[in-house]
Amino acid sequence: MELYKEHQLKIYNSLSKKKEVFTPIVEGNVGMYVCGPTVYSNVHLGNVRTFMSFDLVFRYLKHLGFKVRYVRNITDAGHLENDADEGEDRIAKKARLEQIEPMEVVQRYTVDFHTILQQFNNIPPSIEPTATGHIVEQIEIIKEIIEKGLAYEVNGSVYFDVLKYNETEHYGILSGRNIEDSVHNTRVLDGQSEKKNPQDFALWKKADERHIMRWPSPWSDGFPGWHLECSAMSTKYLGKQFDIHGGGMDLKFPHHECEIAQSKTTNGVYPVNYWMHANMLTLNGQKMAKSTGNNILPDEIFSGDNTILNKPFTAGVVRFFMLQANYRSILDFSSTALEASEKGHAKLMEAISFLPSLIGGNESSFDVQAWKQKCYDAMNDDFNSPILIAQLFDAVKQVNLLKEGRATISTSDLEIFTQTINSFVFDVLGLPNEAANNHSDKLGGVVELLIKLRKEARDNKDWALSDQIRNELVELGIQLKDGKEGTSFTVS
Ligand SMILES: [Zn+2]
Repeated sequence: MELYKEHQLKIYNSLSKKKEVFTPIVEGNVGMYVCGPTVYSNVHLGNVRTFMSFDLVFRYLKHLGFKVRYVRNITDAGHLENDADEGEDRIAKKARLEQIEPMEVVQRYTVDFHTILQQFNNIPPSIEPTATGHIVEQIEIIKEIIEKGLAYEVNGSVYFDVLKYNETEHYGILSGRNIEDSVHNTRVLDGQSEKKNPQDFALWKKADERHIMRWPSPWSDGFPGWHLECSAMSTKYLGKQFDIHGGGMDLKFPHHECEIAQSKTTNGVYPVNYWMHANMLTLNGQKMAKSTGNNILPDEIFSGDNTILNKPFTAGVVRFFMLQANYRSILDFSSTALEASEKGHAKLMEAISFLPSLIGGNESSFDVQAWKQKCYDAMNDDFNSPILIAQLFDAVKQVNLLKEGRATISTSDLEIFTQTINSFVFDVLGLPNEAANNHSDKLGGVVELLIKLRKEARDNKDWALSDQIRNELVELGIQLKDGKEGTSFTVS
């Protein structure tokens, strides 16, 4: 029997602002859509957290035995510099600045996105459609919205008529905004806007002469508005109504509000049953921003080449750190917090490495079934990974007692205990199995030894030997870096 039949999963629905029992539209099947990245720059660590949150959801749904179709798009056109439907296309701008083709920008940062997500052990989605691959579908939706009288054309561009929609529907249903507050512009309008009302948003924009990413349409040579692609692709791959729609908290308004308005108008039904929003990551208590330098790239975390953290951290430790917070809470990224997580992560991995050497007996001195149930209770309560991790630390305590002979476990319980720990740690939390490649620990020990010998050589002014150690390590792909705190190394 599938596990989901034995468990009652509850999901916090951003639409009702309540935890609700999860019942999929088709029993045993889940359709999930998550807004993907706009591929015009290296993936932001905050985005990594968002996608990791939905990776946890994807993994747990699969663990429960659901057949999940997970769709996550790639925005490769149409995302302008600001929410006011003005400014340059982000990808076209990067292409102009770097003097390359927009598709070269798209290719470079799509590859970067996939590489980074894989380093953090995220499972790829079932379908990863692109905006440029669905221009035809988007044009069809615009035609339907115009036909229904909820969009209008001005000078080759088409806008969604938010005020008219709001006469019969509630624009703001998800974000809780009133129509008066729902202005797609933080700046004062200068009267040059083509929109009837500042609340309206673009479905199609006419391209000016220098805009290279353009497609023919009944209205003009142009490009689709950013919000439209998600309505087109979610409907195409998951149907008019589907189970879960996720994204970062910052997408609630205007992006998701616009998706609801577009899909409701086109399909006549509300598109999503459970809306899920992942919270943001701050860095040393401040919002992450490239402009202020309060920002860090994943590669800089792994190499230690940054001014923010005291030492390098592995992707496994960063993943563990992120999952120690609930996906709906703000999480602060700092060296101290990561160091604490690194210790906890090492303890957990150490306990897992002891599991195969434990021996079962006749009786258990602790209730394995009750503990296992608590693990499921945690995840069934809106994917509460920090509570699950607390349960796993209870298991670590038991492993250590068993190892010291201060606790006992029956043979059948030991099997359940081992299997439950492994499946929650590796399948559900998705932590990389570092016990499987502890060669890297041994390699670290060997390099540390060479660093020590090189230091002795330098203290003895034996520059030839010290250079030899350094250069031969470089040939093996290991770089030494001398700093105030001593010598560290990176492996390429
Ligand atoms: Zn979206």
